Amino acid sequence: MLSTLQNYSINNISSRITSNSINFSTLSSNFLKNNKVPNPEDRDQVGESVKLSTLPSVDPIGHIPFLKEAQKITFGRESKLIKNNEIVSCQANGGTNAIWLGLSLLQEQYKNPKVYISAKTWGNHKKIVQYLSEHRGIQMDLNVYPWTDENNTLLSDQFFKKMSLAEPNSIVVLHACCHNLTGIDLKPKKWKELAQIFAEKKLHAFFDMAYQGLGSGDLDNDAFALRYFAENGVTTSVAESYSKKAGLYGARLGVFHHVLPGGLGKEQWEQRAADNLQYFSLKPSALHAEIMYKVLSNNVLFKDYKEEIRQAYSRIQYIRNLLSDKIEQLTDYDMDFCRTGRGLFTQFNLDKKYIESLQKEAIFLLPNGRISLPCLNRSNIDRFVQCIIKYL
Ligand code: PMP
Repeated sequence: MLSTLQNYSINNISSRITSNSINFSTLSSNFLKNNKVPNPEDRDQVGESVKLSTLPSVDPIGHIPFLKEAQKITFGRESKLIKNNEIVSCQANGGTNAIWLGLSLLQEQYKNPKVYISAKTWGNHKKIVQYLSEHRGIQMDLNVYPWTDENNTLLSDQFFKKMSLAEPNSIVVLHACCHNLTGIDLKPKKWKELAQIFAEKKLHAFFDMAYQGLGSGDLDNDAFALRYFAENGVTTSVAESYSKKAGLYGARLGVFHHVLPGGLGKEQWEQRAADNLQYFSLKPSALHAEIMYKVLSNNVLFKDYKEEIRQAYSRIQYIRNLLSDKIEQLTDYDMDFCRTGRGLFTQFNLDKKYIESLQKEAIFLLPNGRISLPCLNRSNIDRFVQCIIKYL
């Protein structure tokens, strides 16, 4: 899946590592080498080498210039929270480690908190909460909130009701965009309603943002929910990942951000994060943080990056429409959930025995019926459709 996605995205950013140097395919290399803003006319020049020895050393909480750029991409370039120095940010080993780090810090903060995860979600949410709860001597009580039913209809009333009954200081893990499993997200109006419940009930919103930009083609659009919560009185944390949004899957680049009203206690948070990182990974890595810093901080590269995100999104959307059209031409099955869904995934609510039958035909869905749309292309989509419609 990833190689397919990467083919349609982020090619300029990917690098080839030789014995002691890195070759960047286009202008990013010139920028790294000369450390000055490249001329857009230089776009076609072939990249040159950058010595690994030019990499900066990183602080215990990460590559500071990169973290500042990460705050802007997450909270918005004009964010008051950034201007008022109200965000503490720590580099992590991918999005997974950012979730892990963030939940560990909140576990220490709240002492025996209740944690809510989506009833349908990426499997690691449950595993991380359970692991932290069992191994760190501070219990976290795991709960689920409703998400979608078997027709892929969002159960927002039930979800909101559950939230309005939750205890204060409960931590609620939310998919910022591109819900990983169903591809179904709340609409802005619903996010606003939910934010109000969170503010009133003093719930802690923990956004997992692994697919920023891939839900709508626009980085700002996909960060709407977390920005709205953070700016409207909800205690907010974000675990973001660069694996998909920058095609840096193998690089393990992620960030945990936490908003501290008035910036109070920032130093203590940074110290606790550094202490936790000390035994997770000692220090975060510099290489890909430096690459991402160069991309995010340079107007020309950032513009290219946003365009590549838009193209990756367009391809996913193209596959969503093509798959939906093809299935609807052959069956009465309503594919609107797929057509209007966002991000890499969609879910077919199939009986387990049908999923096993599909696997025998070399159609591999997760046991919960989730498929990864970027895996589909013009040459394999018809076979996929022929196989799956037998069970719809
Ligand atoms: N959150 C979600 C919802 C994900 O789908 C993923 C990746 N599959 C992650 C976090 C973790 O991202 P990373 O690969 O950077 O660890």
